[in-house]
Formats: sequence, structure tokens, C-alpha cells
Amino acid sequence: MTAERCLECGETAVEERVAPFVVERGGKTATIQDRRMVCSACGNVSYRGAQVSAHELAVAEAVREMDGLLSARELAAIRDKYRLKQTDMEQMLSTGPKTWTRWERGKVPQSKAADRFIRAIAGDPYLARRLMRAAGVVNAEAEAMFAEIERDARRVAEAMVRAELRQQGFLDDERVGRIATAKAFEAVHGGMEAKAA
Ligand SMILES: [Zn+2]
Repeated sequence: MTAERCLECGETAVEERVAPFVVERGGKTATIQDRRMVCSACGNVSYRGAQVSAHELAVAEAVREMDGLLSARELAAIRDKYRLKQTDMEQMLSTGPKTWTRWERGKVPQSKAADRFIRAIAGDPYLARRLMRAAGVVNAEAEAMFAEIERDARRVAEAMVRAELRQQGFLDDERVGRIATAKAFEAVHGGMEAKAA
């Protein structure tokens, strides 16, 4: 790359460099690597074009990490896991329009309260579904995903009950099947109700 003229000292000595940048936050520090323009004559540092945006994003990500918040990518992954839309999340969390969109874009971090709530949803599909319905969100793809998650949970619960019954000596397949189905239903729905209480 050919050097460019420096706006500070006028020398033709400005080149793009990848260098560390230290981010400070509440007594903690993190080092990010970013691209920027550096003048080898006077040492002046500047960011231009896409470098500005990349720098801001990297700083925001480092700050989120130091604050113990989910990253923008993690937010997108949680939303996608349930096939929810950005507007659905905004409705579910009672935030203003475009709030989730901004969080997911990366430059604006979510609050700690929202972060805690999102983590709870991420770990609990039944809570996510209840919240979706309570917020009046209509999303057929998400409903189908929740139904699939529930089927999977029941299948796992059933398999566990079956294995346990066999171990206890219930060898009648039909009887084992009936009990396992009932117990699995209870396990999945009992769990949902316990969370509702
Ligand atoms: Zn210079």
C-alpha cells in the first residue's frame, strides 16, 4: 500500500496498520486489535471509513464482555434458536421499537436487567413460549419450534422413564409404554406449571 499525506504534519507517511487498542471500563481493561491509519513521521492516529465502524463495534463488544453481558452474536443465536423475530423480542421484553435490533447490531449494549431476562429465556423454552404468548406475539414458525422442543423433551423424558421401569423389573412393554408416556407428559407439563407458579 502506498503512503498517504498526513493531515497533521504534511508528510507522506500515513499507512494502514493493525495494532492493539486498550479499552478501559470500571477499572478493567481489554485489548482489541484494530485497523487504523498511522503516520510514521509524527505518530498521528486516525480512523477512516469502515475502520470507524469496525473500531466502534470492537470497543462495544469488549465493553459488553467486561460488563458480563451477552454478545451481539449470542443475542442473535438465542432469538434464532426459537425462530423469533427482532420485533417479537421487542414485544416480549417491552422495549421500544428497534431496541433489540440495535442490541443485535452491536453498538448499543442491552441493560443488565434485560441481559438477565434474556439468559432466563435462553435456558428455558417454556418460559420463552409463555412470554411470547403473554406479549401477544403471533409467530407460527416460533410456535412450531416450541412444539418441536416440547416433543424432544417428552421423548427424552419417556426414554428415561422406560429405562427406569425396566430396571425395576416391569417387563410388560405395553404397560411400560403407557406409564412412560404419562410420566413424560407430567414431567414436561409439570415443569411448565411449576414455572408458571
Ligand atoms: Zn504525520
